[in-house]
Amino acid sequence: MIGQQRLPDRNPAAHAANIVFSSMTRIAQNGCSLMLVPMSTYENPYSASTRWLRGNLHAHTCCSGFMDIAESGPMFASLGYDFLAVTDHNQAPDEQQWRKWQQQAGLLLVPGEENGTDGHMLEVGVHEVTPTPSEGFAERAAALRGGGGFVMACHPQEYPENGAENIFSAAADLHAVEVFNGMREAIGCDETANIPLWDELLTAGKRLWACANDDFHFALITPGHGWVCVQVPEDEDEITWQLVVAKLKAGAFFASTYPRFEQITLDQDTLHVTAGRHVKLLRVIGPGGRTLHQQEGPKLEWQTEPNLSYFRIEAHTGVKRAWSQPFYAS
Ligand SMILES: [Zn+2]
Ligand SMILES: [Zn+2]
Repeated sequence: MIGQQRLPDRNPAAHAANIVFSSMTRIAQNGCSLMLVPMSTYENPYSASTRWLRGNLHAHTCCSGFMDIAESGPMFASLGYDFLAVTDHNQAPDEQQWRKWQQQAGLLLVPGEENGTDGHMLEVGVHEVTPTPSEGFAERAAALRGGGGFVMACHPQEYPENGAENIFSAAADLHAVEVFNGMREAIGCDETANIPLWDELLTAGKRLWACANDDFHFALITPGHGWVCVQVPEDEDEITWQLVVAKLKAGAFFASTYPRFEQITLDQDTLHVTAGRHVKLLRVIGPGGRTLHQQEGPKLEWQTEPNLSYFRIEAHTGVKRAWSQPFYAS
């Protein structure tokens, strides 16, 4: 759990006392003394920081026959991006290549690759392609997870015949699913269908963060259609790609096609959300994709319901969306 201290129960008396005091407090034993500590039944992936780094986790380069980082990096930087992941097909920039590109890019570059020929997935945060034992989707996901990167299933709508099945089969080894791929939207895929798929996965107990990406090729898509915003401490001086990857794995980010969250906190059982001023509606969504609560405008306060396996927050601005990561039952 991030942002809240919670001590485990160590004896049955703690449970009994918990009922007496309230559902929002828990008795924890610390040496000889007992103390009350705040308790939430949901895991909040966010801190109270209002510092977010905007990035695109899916981009091809001249190595895949597309645009050189010396051109695409400054283009993303000029649009306000803080980082860009390099994810060419089945090749990752080694440290030397990454250093060369980093000098030209104008923003932080995260090394990675897009894995596979059928059933693509990203491994983000690696300098070399992790060897995989077969072309099988689940086997590859397990190998990539073992390689230490952030592993994401890409563009499910590209694979209507087996995309959902593959992701279900590999969910235990995937960190995330790409719920919006700008290039797929440009060529006619129904990217909105990824959201019910994500809720279906979450409702089935799979734990997957959500990413929105451009899948930048330049020839087929311009920058700025889908991105992620990674939350970092306000006083953090050293922003590295390793820090970005660690925050991605912890779920300290949101996905967006335009709206933004400014702060998301869970104060005991009360959720507080502040979004960008253009946000027209905030919605809390739970199992089955069911709307649990919604509020017009850029602020939301909600008393959590008990016994949800997860809930998540959406910000709406016209047809554009921002998706928080799920808060799972702890
Ligand atoms: Zn792909
Ligand atoms: Zn791609």
